[in-house]
Amino acid sequence: MPLIVQKYGGSSMGTLDRIQHVADKVISAKQQGHDVVVVVSAMYGETDRLIQLANALTPYPEPREYDVLISTGEQVSMALLSMALNMKQAPARSFTGAQIGILTDGVHTKARILDIKTDVITRELEQGRIVIIAGFQGVNAQGDITTLGRGGSDTTAVAIAAALNAHECQIYTDVAGVYTTDPHLISEARLLPQISFEEMLEMASLGAKVLQMRSVELASKHNMPIRVLSTFSEGAGTLVTFEDKIMHKRMVSGIAFSREEAIISLSGAPRQVGMEGRIISQVSRANIEIDMIAQHTTVQNTVDFTFTVQRREHAKALKIIEDLAKEMGAGAVKTNAKVAKLSLVGIGMRSHSGVASTMFTTLGDAGIPIQMITTSEIKISVIVDEAHLEKGVRAVHQAFELDKHPQTTEQTYIE
Ligand code: ADP
Ligand code: ASP
Ligand code: MG
Repeated sequence: MPLIVQKYGGSSMGTLDRIQHVADKVISAKQQGHDVVVVVSAMYGETDRLIQLANALTPYPEPREYDVLISTGEQVSMALLSMALNMKQAPARSFTGAQIGILTDGVHTKARILDIKTDVITRELEQGRIVIIAGFQGVNAQGDITTLGRGGSDTTAVAIAAALNAHECQIYTDVAGVYTTDPHLISEARLLPQISFEEMLEMASLGAKVLQMRSVELASKHNMPIRVLSTFSEGAGTLVTFEDKIMHKRMVSGIAFSREEAIISLSGAPRQVGMEGRIISQVSRANIEIDMIAQHTTVQNTVDFTFTVQRREHAKALKIIEDLAKEMGAGAVKTNAKVAKLSLVGIGMRSHSGVASTMFTTLGDAGIPIQMITTSEIKISVIVDEAHLEKGVRAVHQAFELDKHPQTTEQTYIE
């Protein structure tokens, strides 16, 4: 029987009524002749609630205990779904990551999966049962519970699908698939029938939380198609697959954004060989990840060095740079902790110039100053004031006609 792995996210599991609805969907997949393995997230808001509990108790929870705590939400929802299925005469059993044998490294709160045992799952499927697995969690070599980072149930689902050589990995969520941008921000966003792994990877890493980035990486590594679908409406959703399988290649596929950014700028530092390394290493020694970097030499032969970090690390990074500015005799430190990153993603950018100019002109016409720019082969990112983000996304979305029917690269440009 063809095997499918289905993952249901927090909002799909948010109430008992919703869990009953999920149970019906699982039963219907089973009735269509599939073996079904289901991966579940915690009920909506539960992981946040657990994190708040830990934070209210201590600013420095032991990572081991933190993982024991925040992994519990998934154990609740897996058991409830199993009960709902059994009540509907569909034999099911739920399992934690440790019970299945989802082995991870030891990096608490962002562990990576090393191996997945399939014997328990296979045994249960052979007995005709539906297998329900807690997402987001695993177990390290010492037998301690680990978690896979926020949104990690997507990664559990893809990893299980790959280990079982499933036919497809279906990610059920609260929207009908992957859209040209977050449909909760821009109502004109359009559903994409297909998107390449590469584009989805960029979208996910640039803030589109519809799939955890790691899950997309894993799917492309194992050639496992992902289908993103709505729990609450019918439809084929979005197939995430290899570029050569995409029927209509668009120049630009979507816009991703992240509000959680902060920018720090050290200006007027006397020019010295190796100073860039000195700045960066001080920041990374504090375990702060730097995202964008820009540097330029002024006519006075001093250097302006600007970078962005995640907003939650802003205060820590700023302190380091202020201390460093004093040591280096730099002119000033400027900062803005309320910036956002807006990114345009599309495989068509490789072969078509003009995307950047349209994007920058559009933002300019909308009166939105660009504070920083980075580009790669298939994406362009800019930093803007957070207050301008929504307007910017809307303007760029319109400029590239993402709200209209797919513009394929072939249709848009005649070479
Ligand atoms: P789940 O709880 O099912 O894992 P998430 O909240 O993690 O759901 O992800 C789904 C959400 O991702 C949507 O509700 C939507 O607001 C957001 N999102 C951001 N960008 C996109 C996009 N390009 N397409 C679809 N959803 C997006
Ligand atoms: N419950 C976890 C979270 O909220 C994992 C997930 O939902 O994918 O991040
Ligand atoms: Mg999610």
